[in-house]
Amino acid sequence: MSEVSGKVVIITGASSGLGEATAKMLAGKGAKLVLGARREERLRKLVDDIESSGGVATYKTVDVTKKEEVQALADAAIEAYGRIDVLVNNAGLMPLAPLDELKVEEWEQMIDVNIKGVMYGVAAVLKPMREQESGHIINLSSVAGHVVFPGATVYCATKFAVKAISEGIRKESNGQIRSTNISPGAVATELTDHISHKDSKQMADDMYDDAIDADAIARAVTFAIEQPGDVDINEMIIRPTNQE
Ligand code: NDP
Repeated sequence: MSEVSGKVVIITGASSGLGEATAKMLAGKGAKLVLGARREERLRKLVDDIESSGGVATYKTVDVTKKEEVQALADAAIEAYGRIDVLVNNAGLMPLAPLDELKVEEWEQMIDVNIKGVMYGVAAVLKPMREQESGHIINLSSVAGHVVFPGATVYCATKFAVKAISEGIRKESNGQIRSTNISPGAVATELTDHISHKDSKQMADDMYDDAIDADAIARAVTFAIEQPGDVDINEMIIRPTNQE
């Protein structure tokens, strides 16, 4: 299967931003979607929108820091559609602050969502993908997974980890599981809304002046999925043309 049409795709963090844009684009191309996030109202509305445009989607609320809930999301995909072709590990948080602020709880949150959440996703889909002898895991890393910015140490650490996880999946794929690491630069979403440190928020807002639209990343995800089965797009970095 090389096209998007008919593929069963799970997307975490589908209630806003990149996840939502990706869901809409893939639905338009005929994917069967299972959408996860914590905000149920947003997910319900998204599924309604997709269905009223003729697409196929279902949702399940999930907190990706809880491995049983991530497993239940994967189980819901099997129950609804009988297989899992693609997991888009997209849920993520970016509460930036200098280390000296000692926002240790925010460090923990980022590690729990951005790293452990991704690994729980892998744990939940690996077995069915092995049984199918095919599958595709797409992880959202970041430019911050390639370069370390002051004030973003822990976020960068989590995104470097995501990049390592993507590479590890590829190395252990046994020719069965495609692995794509997607690294966006500044994209206009709700990601910067949760920055509690005032100066970091200002820095992010300045940087996001030139942010590109979430559709740019949805197109990248779609491109990776629609390649022929023997083609594995391993890495994409997508920056605003203006970003350093
Ligand atoms: P948004 O804040 O718009 O979306 C984040 C999504 O993650 C939401 O749907 C949110 O849903 C979900 N999420 C957060 N915590 C949890 C949790 N514990 N369990 C389940 N879902 C959760 O940001 P983006 O769309 O920009 O972010 C998507 C990904 O892209 C992230 O991994 C981010 O790091 C990455 N990225 C984004 C960039 C950008 O500039 N926008 C740049 C580089 C990477 P809910 O709150 O409903 O649970």
